[in-house]
Amino acid sequence: MRYISTRGTAPALDFEEVLLTGLASDGGLYVPETLPQFSADELSDMAGRPYSEVAFRVMKPFVGDSIDDATFRRLIDESYATFKHDAVVPSVQLGPNHYLLELFHGPTLAFKDVALQLLGRLLNHFLEKRGEKGVIMGATSGDTGSAAIEGCRHSDHLDIFILHPHQRVSEVQRRQMTTVLSDNVFNIAIEGNFDDAQAIVKGSFADQDFLNGTRLIAVNSINWARIMAQIVYYVYAAVNLGAPHREVSFTVPSANFGNLYAGFTASQMGLPVKQFVIATNANDILHRTLADNDFSKKALLATLAPSMDIVVSSNFERLLFDAYNRDGAQVRALLERFQQEPAALADAPLSRLRERFDSATLSDEGIIDVIRDAFERTGELLDPHTATGFYAAEAKRWDQTTPMVTLATAHPAKFEDAVVKAGFEGAPLPPSMADLLERDERYEVLPAELEAVQRFVAEHRR
Ligand SMILES: *Cc1c(COP(=O)(O)O)cnc(C)c1O
Repeated sequence: MRYISTRGTAPALDFEEVLLTGLASDGGLYVPETLPQFSADELSDMAGRPYSEVAFRVMKPFVGDSIDDATFRRLIDESYATFKHDAVVPSVQLGPNHYLLELFHGPTLAFKDVALQLLGRLLNHFLEKRGEKGVIMGATSGDTGSAAIEGCRHSDHLDIFILHPHQRVSEVQRRQMTTVLSDNVFNIAIEGNFDDAQAIVKGSFADQDFLNGTRLIAVNSINWARIMAQIVYYVYAAVNLGAPHREVSFTVPSANFGNLYAGFTASQMGLPVKQFVIATNANDILHRTLADNDFSKKALLATLAPSMDIVVSSNFERLLFDAYNRDGAQVRALLERFQQEPAALADAPLSRLRERFDSATLSDEGIIDVIRDAFERTGELLDPHTATGFYAAEAKRWDQTTPMVTLATAHPAKFEDAVVKAGFEGAPLPPSMADLLERDERYEVLPAELEAVQRFVAEHRR
């Protein structure tokens, strides 16, 4: 399989190159040149199969011959053996024809584990094959950093440096990163905010001389392999609810849009999806774009659902590429305008999106009310991100007869703040993590200076 850029001019790459590359050289994001198609029979035959079997069948066409079947199966099995539930991503019923897909049973209690467990293993595999080492650098406001660390902690060929804003992530989030004491894991607390940390990572990718030729690797959601791994649970959930013989709808708490774009890709591969509902917190660029054609940046707001606090949705570019019938020049023009000033989509692509997508946004007060209300009505304690989804699913579903699946993106114990504000005592951490607050921590506090961080990375990589 070949991968092309959403901006139309970067060279096409194969899977291995796309895995190791991240952003395309023309500033775009890589997507498959053509998507594999699943027949109705192939989909039917996945119903009732174990998660790792469905994962192999769904992802195999994307990796092609770059990795042999036995090895690929082993990496998948190892990735999902880290989940604390035999179903890997179990569903519970919330109401009439409304289901919650629990994606938070992985090592760091958020859906990002689904992709990053596999990504770490895939990177290690290809680096080993090439006889290379790689350095991962990433900035995190919480969930991505810990999931990436868990995905890479056992890798001989990768060193991982994760920057978080000093004293600005929750204690659970920090400890999920800083209590991993593996030799190849380095946590850096930056004396600044998330944007400062992000700027240092971007600066390091822009000028990699400090690494003397060692490859620098990105694990943020622009990496195609993360999208690929997320396609699986849409297929898994849908076939177990009767697809392909009946349509299914999905509601997804969204920010950078990687998660929902994976669902959209599943639908382009033959999964019968009637409707996608985008749920946002007060950082509502996706909702404004879809509802009002207001594709513009707004100041960042700190909300009770912090993992969805974004100004720009980077993966939305992939959806725009499809909405504009894969015309890279138009996507480039639109995004260049968007960087400078408020932009709007052309009529035809916007109507195309509205045929499949709807959206809703929820304020912090709304999140608190929904956590309380959902618990009273269903007995489920939702995390604040999932609460935006629960609300959007009920407010925006087009019909009651199509099963609606709301994605639960995090475990409520990870975001106590909102849960306590909703009047609960908190949510206990699962048994595997019960001693998290007593474990030893290791991290380095550094000033928000590119040079200081680069020096630290150069000195500590193995
Ligand atoms: C990252 C994250 C999201 C947003 O996912 P995107 O793929 O960026 O849209 C939602 N909820 C939680 C808990 C997250 O960690």
